[in-house]
Amino acid sequence: MPDGERYDVVVIGAGPGGYTAALEAARCGFRTALVERRAYLGGVCLNEGCIPSKALLSAADVIETIGRGGVFGVTAGEVHADWSALQARRVEVIQTLRQGVAGLLRAASVEVMTGAARLASATAVEIEQEDRTIRIDADRVVLATGSSPNLPAAWAGLDGVHTSTEMLALGALPASVTIVGGGVIGCEFASMLVRMGVSVRVVEMAERLLPMVDADVAAVLGDRLAEQGVAMRFGARVAELFCEGGVCRVELADGESWESEKVLVAVGRRPNTAGLGLEEAGVGVDARGAVEVDAGLRTALPTVWCIGDANGRTMLAHAAMSQGRHVVRAMLGVEEAYDATVPWCVYTSPELAWVGVSAQEAADRGLSVHTGDFPYAALGKAHASGESAGLFRLVVDAGGVVVGGQVAGAHATELINQVALMVAGRMTVAQAHAVAWAHPTLSEGVGEAASAALGLAVHVPGPRVVREAALVLGGV
Ligand code: FAD
Ligand code: NAD
Repeated sequence: MPDGERYDVVVIGAGPGGYTAALEAARCGFRTALVERRAYLGGVCLNEGCIPSKALLSAADVIETIGRGGVFGVTAGEVHADWSALQARRVEVIQTLRQGVAGLLRAASVEVMTGAARLASATAVEIEQEDRTIRIDADRVVLATGSSPNLPAAWAGLDGVHTSTEMLALGALPASVTIVGGGVIGCEFASMLVRMGVSVRVVEMAERLLPMVDADVAAVLGDRLAEQGVAMRFGARVAELFCEGGVCRVELADGESWESEKVLVAVGRRPNTAGLGLEEAGVGVDARGAVEVDAGLRTALPTVWCIGDANGRTMLAHAAMSQGRHVVRAMLGVEEAYDATVPWCVYTSPELAWVGVSAQEAADRGLSVHTGDFPYAALGKAHASGESAGLFRLVVDAGGVVVGGQVAGAHATELINQVALMVAGRMTVAQAHAVAWAHPTLSEGVGEAASAALGLAVHVPGPRVVREAALVLGGV
């Protein structure tokens, strides 16, 4: 038994950050243990986040596609969501992936332990198990304990008020839902529920959806949600919330009120750092409860790193995974600042995705940039596939380097990875313009947006900018 054992690396938390760090460490030759307090692996992402939400959103996509079969000349019968079948599929997908993660860890000889871990010192971890507490020695520790939903104390326990975790696993599809928070979770649930026939209202305290995205790009999603029937109140806060007899009453500060069967609270997440023994061990925690790390993701203790949601930097699964890989490089002696290019994706209908600097952010920061825009409506493939609403935008610096991009429209979450490669590789729009983008594809929109930044997009009217054209012809 592992009590008193010594490991080269101990990772606390088996979400995407933790299991990636453990796999990478083991494959790099470190004797590695991975401690998880729950009886299953995969963390929030696999069990109550990315994967189950996308399983249900995929069902909404199927409903939508069948529903507009007439556009393609295809007639289908009545479509409806069988919630219990969708739930069975959600569980099946989760179980398949849990087994996959367990198999990978086994194959890499990572020792998986179940129990709630705490940092006993810079080089020791205590694990509380069902019947005992064990202590293991760790030359290096990775904290990857993730995050939990924010739920205002006054609303906790109200029958009918849920976080995303419970909403994904409801016993029945509700007739109506109020969503408090129009952020990433709010948008995804609104898009999923409304397409399943649920009456949806969103209350968002900001003046619009997703303020980190340029207003006209975010509007592609906002307008579609409105068309689909989602009622949205911006600049609004819930003042009172009561639930009784299966009905919740929502009252805004301006006096407007309504009733809904369920309320989803999606107002952000907080890092899981309580009870980890951090401050006693000498690891700093900020006011939000996030672990304080330096540019290389190392805590105040040289042998302890923190990755993923727990450091509160970018609460995304792929950010957690890339941070996991980063800290193992540090263990191998490659000391660098963590500076990965991290795209954001919202899996709504239409999808929204962005990476790097937005045009709005550039303007706010006084950066010298210009943009290349290209509409989905000018793409042959978009028309052929009945997906002609949307926009591609590249943000380009004075040297022609792509520093950011946004896509609103079908498959935006796939297309954004191409822009991420451009940003990470410091590709110029002239280089992108020189590529023969496969036709007919939606990816052509990325290439055409690069060409548009040069004044050279073929499929939209516009004057050529002679200076930029000369740069292209010169092969810059
Ligand atoms: P987590 O996945 O939170 O895992 C942390 C693990 O640590 C958990 O298993 C927890 O039980 C364990 N743990 C905590 N404390 C201890 C302890 N003391 N001892 C032992 N174990 C402990 N991100 C995306 O990139 N794409 C998406 O599409 C996406 N969709 C999402 C949808 C929803 C509804 C939600 C809620 C989140 C979504 N996210 C998405 C965010 C994503 O789930 C998180 O960013 C990601 O899971 C963070 O990974 P992590 O490894 O840092 O932590
Ligand atoms: P969020 O930060 O994305 O959005 C929260 C929203 O709630 C904000 O727009 C905020 O203005 C609003 N808000 C806060 N308090 C409010 C109040 N009292 N009344 C009305 N509005 C209020 O948080 P989230 O949607 O809860 O998601 C948490 C995190 O999970 C995300 O930021 C993201 O990191 C991750 N996530 C990612 C994905 C994805 O990548 N597709 C999906 C879901 C979640």
